Amino acid sequence: MPAMSLTTTPPPGGADATRAALAWTHTARFLTTASRLDQLPAHELPEIAFVGRSNAGKSTAINTLAQQRQLAFASKTPGRTQHINLFEVGPRETPQALWADLPGYGYAAVARASKLRWQEVMADYLRVRRNLAGVVQMVDSRHGFTDLDRQLLSFVAPRVVNGEVKLLVLLTKADKLNRKEQAESLRRAQEVLGELSTEESDIGITLFSSLKRQGIGDAAEILQQWALEAQVLPDFTPAPAPDEADDAPAAEQP
Ligand code: GDP
Repeated sequence: MPAMSLTTTPPPGGADATRAALAWTHTARFLTTASRLDQLPAHELPEIAFVGRSNAGKSTAINTLAQQRQLAFASKTPGRTQHINLFEVGPRETPQALWADLPGYGYAAVARASKLRWQEVMADYLRVRRNLAGVVQMVDSRHGFTDLDRQLLSFVAPRVVNGEVKLLVLLTKADKLNRKEQAESLRRAQEVLGELSTEESDIGITLFSSLKRQGIGDAAEILQQWALEAQVLPDFTPAPAPDEADDAPAAEQP
């Protein structure tokens, strides 16, 4: 077993760290919305994507983490449900992370063509978004990982396995389960995520309830840690091609 790459234990921050992390998540504010990947702004901040089946409790979780009632409900407005909504987090002058609220998947009433288009957009986003530092996946604790959840996870799995993208799974609505069922839900999720666990991977799972405020401090601490740790590589600037170099004024012929 690699050195605890898969963990269900909370970060060892203590009450002060939890308070600081919640103050940090509270700074989240709406930045912009995009219906296509090429509309997303380029930036140098670590980006954290929130994903989940529709109705898994994603909007409620984001609002609870940010301690704001309406933050994630832009994504519920008709016409906005299939957009990526970006939030900025950290001090206003020096933001430290962007949160990307991705559309909930698996909503039965969405037309098939539109579902397929969005599946493509999300798959591309998870596979190639350069700044993607972490993914928070909301999974209903009563149902565990469905086929669709696994499919979504598979898009980003290679980047989780090699440590490029961190993963936090929130087992939502844990208040609906008794203690024994909670332990079982956690065990089953660990089994699924065990497949992605390597020396490099950073995977966390926590029972989460917006209603009973379970797991919120832990999730906030992890999100803040991710933002502070993330090192986004500067843009790669290719060296000039040999021809161009030959044209340089310094290269005068004798
Ligand atoms: P989304 O579609 O994933 O954004 O889901 P929502 O956040 O809109 O939540 C879907 C439903 O689950 C709503 O009726 C919420 O009130 C309910 N819900 C969300 N979080 C919790 C929770 O922690 N406990 C319980 N019991 N219900 C929740």
